[in-house]
Amino acid sequence: MGGGGESSGRRAAVIRSSCARASIIIECAIDAHGVFQLIIQGKRVMDGLRVGFGGWLTAAALVLGAAAAQAAAAPVKEQAPGYYRTMLGDWEVTSLSDGTFPMPVDKLLVNVTPPALDAALERSFLKNPVEASVNGFLVNTGGKLVLIDTGAGVFFGPSVGKLAANLRAAGYRPEQVDDIYITHMHGDHVGGLIADGRRVFPNAVVHASKPEADYWLSKAAMDAAPAEAKGGFQQAMSALQPYVAAGKFKTFEGETELLPGLRAIPNHGHTPGHTIYVASHQGQSVVFWGDLMHVAAVQFADPAVAIRYDFDPVMAVAQRKKVFADVAAQRSWVAGAHLSFPGIGHLRQAGGGYEFVPANYSSLH
Ligand SMILES: [Zn+2]
Ligand SMILES: [Zn+2]
Repeated sequence: MGGGGESSGRRAAVIRSSCARASIIIECAIDAHGVFQLIIQGKRVMDGLRVGFGGWLTAAALVLGAAAAQAAAAPVKEQAPGYYRTMLGDWEVTSLSDGTFPMPVDKLLVNVTPPALDAALERSFLKNPVEASVNGFLVNTGGKLVLIDTGAGVFFGPSVGKLAANLRAAGYRPEQVDDIYITHMHGDHVGGLIADGRRVFPNAVVHASKPEADYWLSKAAMDAAPAEAKGGFQQAMSALQPYVAAGKFKTFEGETELLPGLRAIPNHGHTPGHTIYVASHQGQSVVFWGDLMHVAAVQFADPAVAIRYDFDPVMAVAQRKKVFADVAAQRSWVAGAHLSFPGIGHLRQAGGGYEFVPANYSSLH
């Protein structure tokens, strides 16, 4: 940005400022009658009131400063803090963004033809790879602070791993979290449990279903897995081990009420012990469905489309169809780990499938 200069005549004065990058010349002048003028690129754009010389000089300097600063402002290129609140009666649900990562859906989705996939992406104004959100959810019941999934930590690179920072931005501290409910032990859901091998949530008890723990925390299962799948076991073990060692890990079996109004429901298919959690309070409910689905642009319209991450794609499709039908009929809130942030809304039937209706923005006042 260039600097300004000033000169004044007996009955007229000019302040000139230019911004080198934008090549804009802005002048303020006072004419023979003492009337303030603003001139941009030689064009008179504003006549002001007759003011004293000192007054207009100050005003002119402020105008010039603001105009030059605007012309030079660089894009900030940073998103708003990643949290969003939804009230469930007087319970507070805070969506927490862990970040996003590029998902090559052409390589991952199954049961869909390439032309059908292209058409679905185009209908949603998306391109492959799709920028996929990773979300966790914090439920404040008044008595307990419960976190559902923890994001990727360091497992998926620097575009994710921001959940703890966004939890702080949302007005909470990791040490305040009482309980963590894990939908399943894929790295993008458990990675945020640890940082530098230590527990991020030192006072929290981590809960997961027994079949999930039995699979991912089993050395025998890891040894039996193909080479390319062993990394997933190592991630799960490294994320959970500090909590196991501290006596802060518990499993449950079958449908279980973990807290009054917070229920775990088996949803095995995506992984051997994938679990959804339902919070019900004051006549409303929200279903935290983890990885029940991944790609909104495709799987709402056609729930039969599966993803290569599914442990049992046939079972995963059946679970998806059942839960979609239930939440649409019951008009429950749904909260998804990979729905576009803040990842909370409703489902309605549309054609042979469903449409997702994102939450209407609320200022909570
Ligand atoms: Zn998963
Ligand atoms: Zn996931």
